[in-house]
Amino acid sequence: MDKIKGISASRGIAKGKVHFEELKELEEIEEKRIDESKIDEEVESLEKAIDKAKEELKKIKEKTENEVGKEEAEIFGAHLMFLDDPEFTGTMKEKIKEESFAAETAVTKVMQKYVVMFENMDNEYMKARKTDIEDVSRRIVDKLKGEEDVSSEVADNTVVIAKDLTPSMTASLDKDKIAAFVTAIGSRTSHTAIMSRSLGIPAIVGAGEEILDAVKEGDKVIVDGSSGELIVKPDQQTLEEYDKKIAEYKEKLALLEKYKDKKAKTKDGEEIEVAGNIGNTADVAGVLENGGEGSGLFRTEFLYMGRDSIPDEDEQFEVYKEVAEKMEDKPVIIRTLDVGGDKDIPYLDLAEEMNPFLGYRAIRLCLDRKEDIFKPQLKAILRASNYGNIKMMYPFVSSFEEVIEANKVLEEAKAELDDKDIEYDKEMEVGIMIETPAAVMIADKLAKEVDFFSIGTNDLIQYTTAVDRTNEKISELHNPYHPGVLKLIREAIDKAHENDIWIGMCGAAAGNPLLLPFLLGAGLDEFSMSPASIPELKKKLENWTREEAKEVVDKALTMKTSAEVKDYFEQISE
Ligand code: PEP
Ligand code: MG
Repeated sequence: MDKIKGISASRGIAKGKVHFEELKELEEIEEKRIDESKIDEEVESLEKAIDKAKEELKKIKEKTENEVGKEEAEIFGAHLMFLDDPEFTGTMKEKIKEESFAAETAVTKVMQKYVVMFENMDNEYMKARKTDIEDVSRRIVDKLKGEEDVSSEVADNTVVIAKDLTPSMTASLDKDKIAAFVTAIGSRTSHTAIMSRSLGIPAIVGAGEEILDAVKEGDKVIVDGSSGELIVKPDQQTLEEYDKKIAEYKEKLALLEKYKDKKAKTKDGEEIEVAGNIGNTADVAGVLENGGEGSGLFRTEFLYMGRDSIPDEDEQFEVYKEVAEKMEDKPVIIRTLDVGGDKDIPYLDLAEEMNPFLGYRAIRLCLDRKEDIFKPQLKAILRASNYGNIKMMYPFVSSFEEVIEANKVLEEAKAELDDKDIEYDKEMEVGIMIETPAAVMIADKLAKEVDFFSIGTNDLIQYTTAVDRTNEKISELHNPYHPGVLKLIREAIDKAHENDIWIGMCGAAAGNPLLLPFLLGAGLDEFSMSPASIPELKKKLENWTREEAKEVVDKALTMKTSAEVKDYFEQISE
């Protein structure tokens, strides 16, 4: 049994038998020249081949639109555009006329020029477009040789393995019979990845060229598209293990199917907002696919990472705007920068600290760097608020003054936009995260300054129980069942409601089904979690009414230990 690791391109697990699809490499075509007397004839053959290729592509586009989707069919729309581009096909003709190249050679030469151009682009997506050029060029050459477009016949439960799969190869396969795709090269933005995600077929890309030797036609394999692992000739124990995983995954999919388009409701029909946390524009799709009703936390720090300077106002605006638009009017809570703690950003030159989690972090840093960090971000968020349903919140609040000062900078940011007649949502809601015990203690005062609260349990647990959330040695202690933590959560919810503001939760506890009765009973208004947890939470919500859940709160708060609380939550969640 061998295990090979690649890039997870499309989630899901499957087992099946290997079938190799061969990728024809055009680069290997021999350079041929023709006699000058044959030039006109050669140009004519090329034109005919291009026309034939166009006819085929129109059919494939239609088929893909019916079988997969409009967006995926556009891949072939792009191929058709190449064939209509005089720069592309015109240069091929010139190469025949001026350099007496055979049509095949002319196609290859032009293709190579474009491939180099795409390979040199910095954008991953554009880089991956080189496959389109190769694919469409290969189609022309096939037509020149008189080869028809044939579909590969495959058996049921086939795992297709290839060096790379072009869009045309993927389109010609019978999707009903394919259990999974694995390619040696390619990235998450390659067509195989995009198509398999749309089809819901597990896929691994970039598994390395050694798979082409490590696996033989007909071998039994397991493809774990979620972890990116390919298991060759699994033993009995592994097969049984994966049969269980496959069954669990199917159950999850069924749950997703059932709850995706259903509003989250309690047993007695009260609608509850269930949302997903995001870290970038691409994550929005995951929230929508899982049936999320918005995002209760957009962690903007990821925008600042993996680069060497602060993203400027315009760059941030574009990202926030895209998120707002992609979310289709569902609410998105953008959290202002939360770095420091365990998240370092080298170009900010943060000094090393003895206790970074208790130090120069999040709102503290932003209030110290108003002009170069905080205000540009606030302005970008305000501008984006004009394009969707945006709310904003400050993280790691531990004092009243911080909120007053942050809101003052917000007013300055608004005034600067007003001066330039730049529009924004004047009613944009502004909230704070409840992540420190101090914030809970003064919640009644804070509630008068903001529109909402969102409890960040990851930090609230750490600061309440003095348990470093990143220390693996004490990870057991970082749990939401501690009676002290539960008491603070209830207190924060009560104080929000007494002051007529709403309160959500975006820490991991919001997606923990065991805590659901407690949070519901305590009166939480919004739950925001990792998108994959949404369907299960919606299901669990149907088991409770707020009234019934209130008893859970009273009972849990009489308990003395985390273990006792957890046991109780487990009992009632069966
Ligand atoms: C939290 O602390 O619970 C939270 C949601 O914020 P983060 O995990 O990003 O610190
Ligand atoms: Mg936090």
